[in-house]
Amino acid sequence: MKTCPRCHKETLEDEQALNSLSRRGNVYICNPCGDEEALIDMGEMLPTKAEIEFAAQLQSEPDLP
Ligand SMILES: [Zn+2]
Repeated sequence: MKTCPRCHKETLEDEQALNSLSRRGNVYICNPCGDEEALIDMGEMLPTKAEIEFAAQLQSEPDLP
C-alpha cells in the first residue's frame, strides 16, 4: 500500500478511483487531503504546511507517482 504523497500519513487505496485526484497535478492523494485542497480552493481554509510543501514538491517533480 502506498502512502499519500501530500500528507505522508494516510495510506492510499489500491484502487485509484477510491482516492482523490489532486487539484495541483495528476497525482492521487488521500481523501482527507482532497477535501483539504477543495476547502483551500474555496477560500474556506488557509493553505496548510502540507499544502505548501506538496505544491513545491510537484513543481520540482511533476511526474510523481
Ligand atoms: Zn493525504
